[in-house]
Amino acid sequence: MSQAPIIDRMRVFLVESPIRMARAQGVGAVKGSVRRVLLELTTRDGIIGWGEAAPWEVFTGTPEGAFAALDRYLRPLILGADARRLRSLTAAMDRTLVSHPESKVAVEMALLDILGKSTGLSVADLLGGRVRDTIPLSFSIADPDFAADLERMHAMVAAGQRLFKVKTGVKPHAEDMAHLEAIRGAFGDTVDLRLDYNQALEPFGAMTILRDVDRFRPTFIEQPVPRRHLDAMAGFAHALDTPILADESCFDATDLLEVVRRQAADAISVKLMKCGGLLKAQAMMAIADTAGLPGYGGTLWEGGIALAAGTQLIAATPGISLGCEFYMPHHVLTEDVLEERIPNRNGAVVVPDAPGLGIRVTEASLRAGAKHVAEA
Ligand SMILES: [Mg+2]
Repeated sequence: MSQAPIIDRMRVFLVESPIRMARAQGVGAVKGSVRRVLLELTTRDGIIGWGEAAPWEVFTGTPEGAFAALDRYLRPLILGADARRLRSLTAAMDRTLVSHPESKVAVEMALLDILGKSTGLSVADLLGGRVRDTIPLSFSIADPDFAADLERMHAMVAAGQRLFKVKTGVKPHAEDMAHLEAIRGAFGDTVDLRLDYNQALEPFGAMTILRDVDRFRPTFIEQPVPRRHLDAMAGFAHALDTPILADESCFDATDLLEVVRRQAADAISVKLMKCGGLLKAQAMMAIADTAGLPGYGGTLWEGGIALAAGTQLIAATPGISLGCEFYMPHHVLTEDVLEERIPNRNGAVVVPDAPGLGIRVTEASLRAGAKHVAEA
């Protein structure tokens, strides 16, 4: 490092991207477009780092709130900060602003991008070094038009895709059963099937439904009931052969301790937008590893920058072993601000080799790849 990497320029962009397919997710159907926030930090000697905050209003917060958090509340901490003192800045952000994990992780990924670019190391190197070069990729079956999804699955399986997560609980149970039957009928055990209820079931009666779907031998059942019903989750985890995965019930390390204490899940979904940091995600996985819970790389409506950070995290975190769902840029977002997308090969995300996040964003790709709603 020639000079101290002091941040002296910051730009925040609220962008909107059209999406290619309608998504019915139990809570919050998404159609048309999604909004997210991009962050560009530049050091005194011109090294640029990128970050992204991608909240979802039914899950964590709003993109407009993330924009304001970065522009108005975190900007004074970021300008003049030394990128090498990342933990110190993280602590200052936590003292200054409650919650807003998406905005905080956007800052952390931009700083790690800068540190990586200034040292020639990837973010995975900075996080302890990679333990895997590819990450199995899960695609979510969430199109309201199931026939369209089944057709998509045929093409994807032929191209080497193996992991699929079916969004269940949106349609009547009988329809879910018919869809699962159709999927197992068409692909047998060649696909690794996971189910995600996105909190759709009430604890009352859920056990019967879950016992029904259990017979399709899913790898896990994600978040069958609302976030707060940890005792019901524990009941399912105890009674069913299929592992129960906590997503909405497990945002951060505090939630995870409770999940572990009450034995409310067999695995967890780790999302940068929930826990608010790559280092925090690794700290969570230390708890999960100790308790014997594997992690799964989840997302919200994240674009290429956030998914690059997630890719680097999983590459360097052994316990996140259940794959990832970083399929947005290839299958859902019609455009993105990266010069080149992170490659997917044979149903897996290929971890980039280049320094920092391993991606390239230029002024041209930034302007061409999303509609700009606001800039500060
Ligand atoms: Mg989920």
